[in-house]
Amino acid sequence: MVVRIEDLRKSFGDNEVLRGIDLDVHRGEVVVILGPSGSGKSTLLRCVNLLEKPTGGRIFFEDTEITAKKTDINKVRAKVGMVFQNFNLFPHLTAKKNVMLAQQKVLHRNADEAARIAVEQLEKVGLGERIDYKPSELSGGQQQRVAIARALAMDPHVMLFDEATSALDPELVRDVLGVMKSLAKGGMTMIVVTHEMGFARDVADRVIFMDGGFIVEQGTPEDVFDHPKSDRTKDFLGHIS
Ligand code: ADP
Ligand code: MG
Repeated sequence: MVVRIEDLRKSFGDNEVLRGIDLDVHRGEVVVILGPSGSGKSTLLRCVNLLEKPTGGRIFFEDTEITAKKTDINKVRAKVGMVFQNFNLFPHLTAKKNVMLAQQKVLHRNADEAARIAVEQLEKVGLGERIDYKPSELSGGQQQRVAIARALAMDPHVMLFDEATSALDPELVRDVLGVMKSLAKGGMTMIVVTHEMGFARDVADRVIFMDGGFIVEQGTPEDVFDHPKSDRTKDFLGHIS
């Protein structure tokens, strides 16, 4: 097991946005989370790397209960890669420097090693020719691939993607999905929030449909897309006749 979530709850004031989520993610598994806006998908991912503090329940990362008080949050975060809708690159740094920074600060790699790994990861996402470009000199899709390379350079044991392609022009989405797909095929454990149904169908081992802070339904892509059980899932997928 890479991630185990038990009865996870999160409230913002009176608003309970996660209402008892149970989810186990196995090594090498790709879990795609679908659901309408406001259903709690981002909050769920943010709880997994403790960007949000759960108000109830427990989360385990490998053998560590990360919701326990004594857990070193930074150590956990280093192993949990996260890619957001907005790439959050440093605008004044080149792609290579962006990918080097956390390696040096968090993992204490020296500059040579961090640079070597940065170049390796940038090549892997198809940006070998762009390592010395700054974010403003790159397309949105290229910037997002830098963000993916940056996360991969930390040797994560799981990658979380929160609508990684939602801010991109349609013609740029494919390259980013391609990188995510090859990561998945390479055995990376992934939790992916996306509206890209084609990607979900192709790549997911398991599809989860969330609504109102609950997991409403889950199964293989065939189960959820072709034979949805819940009316809410059918409605979301546009199956209601
Ligand atoms: P999704 O990613 O599925 O669109 P979110 O997890 O972003 O959903 O949000 C779920 C609910 O939690 C929404 O009602 C949202 O307004 C609320 N929420 C999210 N983050 C915060 C926050 N920092 N403070 C208050 N409410 C929040
Ligand atoms: Mg969201």
